[in-house]
Amino acid sequence: MVDRLAERLLPQRCRRCEAGTGGPLLCEPCVLDLPWNDAACARCALPMTAPGICPACLHRAPRFDAAWAAFRLQPPIQHGVHALKYHADFGQARLLGELMARRLQARDAPLPELLVPVPLHPLRLMRRGYNQAAEIARVIARACSIALDLDGARRVRRTEDQIGQSRAARRRNMRGAFVVRTDLAGRHVALVDDVMTTGATFDELARACRAAGAVRIEAWAAARTP
Ligand SMILES: [Zn+2]
Ligand SMILES: [Zn+2]
Repeated sequence: MVDRLAERLLPQRCRRCEAGTGGPLLCEPCVLDLPWNDAACARCALPMTAPGICPACLHRAPRFDAAWAAFRLQPPIQHGVHALKYHADFGQARLLGELMARRLQARDAPLPELLVPVPLHPLRLMRRGYNQAAEIARVIARACSIALDLDGARRVRRTEDQIGQSRAARRRNMRGAFVVRTDLAGRHVALVDDVMTTGATFDELARACRAAGAVRIEAWAAARTP
């Protein structure tokens, strides 16, 4: 509350370089300096040297129709993602969400009708107290006027730690992890997460959304691992 009030009364300064911004959290040069993931695979957001489709997606396309990760998981984005996930730094959700929303509003393609944040397992949600994906999705939903589905998707199975696993192993590990109870018949949705690694989590959630009737499914992440 005090922060909000201070924000309105004091001229907004860039969070990184302290330059006056007249509103946004970062000044324009600092925004441009971020590790945007502009050259990436259109299907899985894998960072590439030029836009296109990566060999893995040509071999086996993901269940979602398109993927977009705003940034590469590099400093300073990496620090922001970490601070949000492990230290409840919700200012980072606002920053990431607003930067994502700006890009999304500028794109040519139609925006989805509904955002579905990747759910945490209830036990993990209880321990952490919040879902970082939902915090980012909330900011995008508000900025882009897209409906937000916070509890239609449930994580019904705990999955083992996937660090170091191959794409195929991650896919097997995620099998049956989600159920979607919202009726998505005929709808265009976007799944939202903080970090996209191989896309196995999005892939499994997309399977559940497809079963619930979704006709177009995009996968959006704040950051993509290389
Ligand atoms: Zn700046
Ligand atoms: Zn790909």
